[in-house]
Amino acid sequence: MSKLVIVGTVAFDAIETPFGKTDKILGGAATFIGLAASQFNVDAAIVSVVGGDFPKEYLDLLANKNLDISGVEIVKEGKTFFWSGKYHNDMNTRDTLATELNVLADFNPIVPEDYKKADVVMLGNLHPLVQMSVLEQMNKKPKMVILDTMNFWMDCALDELKAVINKVDVITINDEEARQLTGEYSLVVAAQKIHKMGPKYVVIKKGEHGALLFHNENVFFAPALPLKEVFDPTGAGDTFAGGFAGYLAKTEDYSFENMKTAVIYGSTLASFCVEKFGTERMEQLQDREVYQRLNQFKQLTKFEIILE
Ligand code: AMP
Repeated sequence: MSKLVIVGTVAFDAIETPFGKTDKILGGAATFIGLAASQFNVDAAIVSVVGGDFPKEYLDLLANKNLDISGVEIVKEGKTFFWSGKYHNDMNTRDTLATELNVLADFNPIVPEDYKKADVVMLGNLHPLVQMSVLEQMNKKPKMVILDTMNFWMDCALDELKAVINKVDVITINDEEARQLTGEYSLVVAAQKIHKMGPKYVVIKKGEHGALLFHNENVFFAPALPLKEVFDPTGAGDTFAGGFAGYLAKTEDYSFENMKTAVIYGSTLASFCVEKFGTERMEQLQDREVYQRLNQFKQLTKFEIILE
C-alpha cells in the first residue's frame, strides 16, 4: 500500500456565508486533504501542530478515518491556528477576516519515521519553510511531490515559497493566486511561467468554474459539477488536492493521462465538501455517493461529434 505524507494546518475556522455563520469549527488544510485522501486505500499520515485547546474528539475523528496522526504535535500551553473568512454573495470570492498563526508561528514539523520513505508528499497550505522542512526530512526521493499554497504566503514569505515551489512536481493553486504569483492575467501564460519556476505539472483551480491541468503544451480541463446548493466553499481547494494526491498514491501511476483522472476525483470530492459547513459533509461521505457522482461527471462532459 502506498504511503502518503500530508502537511498543512489543522485548525479552527469561523465561517460566514450568505446562508449562515459558524463559531469555531474543525478546519485546516491538512484536515480537508486528509479527509479526501482517506477515500482511497492509502496509508496516509498528517504532519501538523495544534494547541492544548484542540478537542480530542477532532483528533479522534481524523484517526477514525485511518489517518496516522502521530505527526500532529500538541503544544499543551499553545493555541491552535485560527482562520476566519466571509464569503461574498457569489460564493466564489471571500475575505479573510483573521489569520492567527498561534502554535504555527514556531512549528518544527517532524515526519514520523515510518513515513520518511513515502511515495507521495502532499505539501498542503502552511508556511513554506515548514513545507521545505518536511521535504528535507524524506529519506528517499518521493515519486511525486504536490504543493498547495495561498496568497497569504505570497504576501509574507514569497522567497521561501519560490524556493519550495522549485522542488515540487505539481503545484495546485487558484486562478487569482496564479495571477499574483506570476503577474500574468492569462492563465496559460501564468502556467508557463510557473513551469519555469520548477513544477512540471500545474493545476489551476477556478472554483465553480472547474480546474485546468497544464503539462508542457498539454492542457486538460475539468468543469466543476453544477450543484443545486453550495453552502460553504471552505476547504474545497484542499479537498481537491487531497483527492488528487490520494488517487495518484493509490494508483501509483504518475503520468499525465492518469493525472487527468486524478483531477476528476479531486473535483468530485470537492463537490461534496461545499454542500455543508466545514468538514461535515466529508465526514459522512460514502463510497457509493462518490461512485454516483463520478458517473454524473462522466455524463456531464461526454459528447459525440462527427468531424468531416
Ligand atoms: P481553501 O478553502 O481550500 O482555501 O482552504 C481553507 C482552509 O485553509 C481553512 O480550513 C483554513 O483553516 C485554512 N487556511 C486559511 N488560511 C491559511 C493559511 N494562511 N495557511 C494555511 N492554512 C490556511
